[in-house]
Amino acid sequence: MMILKKASDLSKYIGKMKAEGFTIGFVPTMGALHKGHISLIDASRNQCGITACSIFVNPTQFNDQQDFEKYPSTLDQDICLLEESGCDILFIPTVHEIYPTGTDLLKQYDLGPIESILEGKYRPGHFQGVCQVVHRLLEITTPDLLFLGQKDFQQCMVIKKMMEISGFDTIRVNICPTLREKNGLAMSSRNMRLSDDGKEMAGIIFTALDSVKKELSPGNIRPLKEKAITTLQVSGFRVDYFEIAETEGLAICDDWDGRKKLVAITAAFLEEVRLIDNLLLN
Ligand code: AMP
Repeated sequence: MMILKKASDLSKYIGKMKAEGFTIGFVPTMGALHKGHISLIDASRNQCGITACSIFVNPTQFNDQQDFEKYPSTLDQDICLLEESGCDILFIPTVHEIYPTGTDLLKQYDLGPIESILEGKYRPGHFQGVCQVVHRLLEITTPDLLFLGQKDFQQCMVIKKMMEISGFDTIRVNICPTLREKNGLAMSSRNMRLSDDGKEMAGIIFTALDSVKKELSPGNIRPLKEKAITTLQVSGFRVDYFEIAETEGLAICDDWDGRKKLVAITAAFLEEVRLIDNLLLN
């Protein structure tokens, strides 16, 4: 696996590979890699001649400085995992390489209502930061396919919107399913900060999402959401939100017509670690 730190080197190498006829798949990450990330690398390798992964903890998407500082870093292990997975290129840029003119005056995107609901409401500015970094990474890597995880459901929608308004219309987005632990806990870099008991307990997030799926029926679905919130609270979670929303646009749905596609989506703290997850319901 080739490891590159300079944007210009990466662009040049990818340009050469494209000229040779290779399809480029790109998997952006913030490192502390787990099997969920590697499933994206596998998906890219299945569909593309060259797979590039980036590891960059983007400062502009953290609205909480402590969360940024505490973000886990396991670079040596990440490199081993990527080598084993057959990833072709790893890009590990510095902040200066991504934002050569600094982070103060970066582009702001008109993302519409999606920016300020759910995650956006609890993490103001977060999605602007996500768009800034993904935009820059796409300019550098110019992939044919971009691989994202459904685990970050709203983020996928935001990135697609950014790509639409920024003219990245030749890049296809491939959204991959969420990989979970045996107890249903969605794999996440943040899980490393949970105790063993916490990891066990955190499986309840999936249980709560899955109960909504099992009990969903047309009509008033608010009680399903309220029950899920109670389940989480009595288990010691601090719930930022638990909502049932339309998969298109994420409008909150309290009364279901039995036809619209829905997703249950949540963010909750356990042991001061903020965990997010979602499940498609129908
Ligand atoms: P992150 O490093 O958390 O920014 O994630 C990098 C990419 O991996 C994003 O597209 C995530 O949605 C995806 N991802 C994170 N966790 C999982 C998981 N458990 N299963 C599948 N994809 C994931």
